[in-house]
Amino acid sequence: MTEENQYDAVIIGAGVIGAAVAFELAQRGWKTCSVDKLPAAGYGSTSNSCAIVRFSYSTYQGVAMAYEGMHYWADWSNYLGGPDVDESGLVAFHQTGTIMIEAPGGHHEKVVPLLESLNIPHEHWSVEKLQERLPLLTDGVFGPAARPDDDAFWVEPTERIIGALYTPDSGYVSDPQLSTHNLQRAAEAKGSTFVFNRQVVAINQEGGRVSGVELDDGTQIAAPVVVNVAGPHSYLVNDLAGLAGTMNIGTKALRHEVHHVPSPEGFNFETDGMHVSDGDSAVYFRPETGNNILIGSEDPECDEKEWVDPDNYDQEIQQEQWEAQVLRCAKRVEGLGLPHEKKGVVDLYDVSDDWIPIYDRTDLDGFYIAIGTSGNQYKNAGVAGHCMAELIMAVEAGHDHDADPLRVNGRYTGVEMDLGFFSRNREINPDSSFSVNG
Ligand SMILES: Cc1cc2nc3c(=O)[nH]c(=O)nc-3n(C[C@H](O)[C@H](O)[C@H](O)COP(=O)(O)OP(=O)(O)OC[C@H]3O[C@@H](n4cnc5c(N)ncnc54)[C@H](O)[C@@H]3O)c2cc1C
Repeated sequence: MTEENQYDAVIIGAGVIGAAVAFELAQRGWKTCSVDKLPAAGYGSTSNSCAIVRFSYSTYQGVAMAYEGMHYWADWSNYLGGPDVDESGLVAFHQTGTIMIEAPGGHHEKVVPLLESLNIPHEHWSVEKLQERLPLLTDGVFGPAARPDDDAFWVEPTERIIGALYTPDSGYVSDPQLSTHNLQRAAEAKGSTFVFNRQVVAINQEGGRVSGVELDDGTQIAAPVVVNVAGPHSYLVNDLAGLAGTMNIGTKALRHEVHHVPSPEGFNFETDGMHVSDGDSAVYFRPETGNNILIGSEDPECDEKEWVDPDNYDQEIQQEQWEAQVLRCAKRVEGLGLPHEKKGVVDLYDVSDDWIPIYDRTDLDGFYIAIGTSGNQYKNAGVAGHCMAELIMAVEAGHDHDADPLRVNGRYTGVEMDLGFFSRNREINPDSSFSVNG
């Protein structure tokens, strides 16, 4: 073993969360090596993220972490160490604000008390105020969501929505891949190493704890700490470590489509739109470059979940899902057409059993996991990196996190985050929405 192949930590995966873990450890003086089988940082599921930054989770801890996480994006240049840290430039955080459509019994009923308890700025908007701000939004109650081949889909609404919940601080990041490159460069500036086009094929162990990894070209990298941040492949990496069946919460890969459609004529959604979360129609949408609207799904029960092998799944947009998502959005957005040409992306969520991430140690000493990000953790990259670095340092210093879950204070808001909430051995959280809303 050469000295150059010895590190304090190996991080498997250079997506947005993995790169943030590398940066946070490097900031604490750790010599880290990130390994990714793809050619560059953020080329995995991060590359197709909608990169929406919002706080509308179903649990106190989910909302607390997301609001803390927003501040990293608002302070991005400063956080990374200055505007020149990346020769490719830094990403922009478009703080458009979010409106969440309020329909009777809607998700806002869970969210408002949580925003209140955390003092997160929010307002209730009447339908009139909503339509003043976004005149192209319609006011019908369309839910519960159905598929277009179901007659229920075409029934005219008889009720009007209550209004909307507005959170001014939320928005989206322009380019998730570039944001990961930003983190890579910031970590490298602190001494981190990144190895691309190499797959981790074995987790080495010695004396009952992790001792490093083996790459697909036979290279051995030694480190007393290994962190699994492999996104939709996370369960396969856990299997490599011999951890199958050792955790209460599992993860698996879910196929997800995001569609891009032109703004309705006469309205420039790219410049004048904002992020809209419409649980009533089971879609979310936000401005997208080229005067487009980007449409994602809020995973209604009527849509069959496509659990897939992360190395073998259909990467084409399916006609049926295209019609379901775009037509759902067209009910809310007046004048939105169903274009003949399908545009958008297909990628994978790494979904945990309760759609809440797992940020934890494992039963293998020295082996840590930041997985199960369930389509909703892009926004939390910075804060997740911070929490993982604090957790790893505490456990390596002898803290028994399983018996006495670590609490970590937010760098920006000071909020206390209970990392026991994200434990691999928690019971499935009944408060979860079991969807992208966590
Ligand atoms: C379509 C879509 C929309 C989304 N929208 C949002 C949103 O609006 N807001 C939000 O907050 N979140 C969103 N998310 C979720 C968010 O993007 C993810 O939670 C986040 O990007 C996960 O980052 P990661 O670093 O954990 O994983 P990834 O980006 O998937 O990175 C994992 C990396 O590990 C590498 N890897 C895997 N196995 C190995 C191995 N054996 N050896 C070496 N390398 C390996 C992969 O190549 C990959 O690059 C969305 C996700 C998707 C797919």
